[in-house]
Amino acid sequence: MAIEVDMMKKVPVSEQAPEERAHNFEEVCLGYNEEEARAEATRCLNCKNPKCVEGCPVSINIPGFIAKIKEGDMAGAYDVIGEASSLPAVCGRVCPQETQCEGVCIRGIKGEAVSIGKLERFTADWAAEQGISPKAPSEKKNIKVAVIGAGPSGLTCAGDLAKMGYDVTIYEALHKAGGVLVYGIPEFRLPKEKVVAREIENVKALGVKIKTDYVIGRSETIDELMEDEGYSAVYIASGAGLPMFMHIPGEQALGVYSANEYLTRANLMKAYRDDHDTPINVGRKTVVVGGGNVAMDAARTALRLGSEVTVVYRRSEKELPARAEEVHHAKEEGIRFELLTNPVEILEDENGLVKGIRVIKMELGEPDASGRRRPVEIEGSEYEIECDLVIMALGTTPNPLIAGTTDNLETNKKKCIVADEETGATSRNGVFAGGDCATGAATVILAMGAGRKAAKGIDNYIKGQL
Ligand SMILES: Cc1cc2nc3c(=O)[nH]c(=O)nc-3n(C[C@H](O)[C@H](O)[C@H](O)COP(=O)(O)OP(=O)(O)OC[C@H]3O[C@@H](n4cnc5c(N)ncnc54)[C@H](O)[C@@H]3O)c2cc1C
Repeated sequence: MAIEVDMMKKVPVSEQAPEERAHNFEEVCLGYNEEEARAEATRCLNCKNPKCVEGCPVSINIPGFIAKIKEGDMAGAYDVIGEASSLPAVCGRVCPQETQCEGVCIRGIKGEAVSIGKLERFTADWAAEQGISPKAPSEKKNIKVAVIGAGPSGLTCAGDLAKMGYDVTIYEALHKAGGVLVYGIPEFRLPKEKVVAREIENVKALGVKIKTDYVIGRSETIDELMEDEGYSAVYIASGAGLPMFMHIPGEQALGVYSANEYLTRANLMKAYRDDHDTPINVGRKTVVVGGGNVAMDAARTALRLGSEVTVVYRRSEKELPARAEEVHHAKEEGIRFELLTNPVEILEDENGLVKGIRVIKMELGEPDASGRRRPVEIEGSEYEIECDLVIMALGTTPNPLIAGTTDNLETNKKKCIVADEETGATSRNGVFAGGDCATGAATVILAMGAGRKAAKGIDNYIKGQL
């Protein structure tokens, strides 16, 4: 039966029911089937001056690929996306579309924006089902480029350079490629084998080599890569994986985790599965501190492991930095939110184990440097929340290892590598940087955009045009 399309509303997408998914790690959103995708594609106005493309950090020809879906030419749609993105199945799932392409969609002025992310995901999944993958370029340059870090930024830069014919090797510290896509974002949002591993294989199909268990700054330095190994240029995409803490009393108690450690245990080391040995602490009652995507992922992971979960965030719902879809899903699954609330102390029992958290109510004052209203404590409003596990999801900074072991690499006060926004060039000749290590923790698509720009920057540098 043909789908009746309300031009003002998105074609609904199937999801696992909240009561079911709260107890498993299977993907929450099930995506469009072909009929639904073609129906949703009819909602695109094919604007002459497409704002959505401007809203996309990698400038995907969005009306172009949607028009192909409308015609039923899915392979054509995949080719259009592939001109700009090497990780479409990932981006279709985790990009904050509501503030990017969909946020400026003209259809969204009077009704709901076109479901661009879900259409991108559909196209990439369709191509995977057909076994379609990109081909390595026939012409190769005999010039070596090293990429440090196999997260979205490194993979994108490596893929683009390989398409230009360069001989590219990625050096990755962990035993698996993918960066935050494998160790941070949980399986229920981004399946690792079905989606991430597959898209990494597509990058490898372009000729990119990936060396895992290789820590630049320890196994080898950038100076050694360039001077001894003959790399003509290096792209640093080492992310921002160093967690921040609040430095409040009790933070050393047993049962306090950084979200990074908690999620790495669950996602990369598969601690939630009986056939894996990595232990993970399952609290009876868990408090997650923070309001970003990382906080939502930690909260929803703890819930699936069997805990009651409360998210404590110091601003109001309006300022929650997490993607709207993640907050909506977390609430549907039964996660409690204590908003305008900030921890002041973690309470321990006589054995040093977490037994609760003391918090204080906040109100919003004048805007701060970030433009958001600054939370201010309300005197005398402290109270306690009982819990036996606390997960800190307060943000991360770049690890200083690489900058500390490389000559002439400028960093700023936040330990980010200083890199030109257009080319990725750093203070050191032949060394480029981008993604979270240069901007601080941001998003997958911004990291990919930086990787694309740096690939062009490196190509120009090697040609002597930079
Ligand atoms: C839990 C979580 C959820 C998130 N959810 C979203 C989301 O829904 N949507 C979104 O857009 N963004 C999300 N983000 C942010 C997004 O994942 C990051 O902005 C993005 O991954 C940054 O990409 P990157 O390539 O710069 O760094 P990373 O993904 O961090 O990759 C860096 C890689 O470099 C490696 N590395 C580090 N140091 C070295 C070294 N010395 N030598 C060799 N390798 C090294 C690391 O092991 C890692 O694999 C989330 C982040 C987290 C932590």
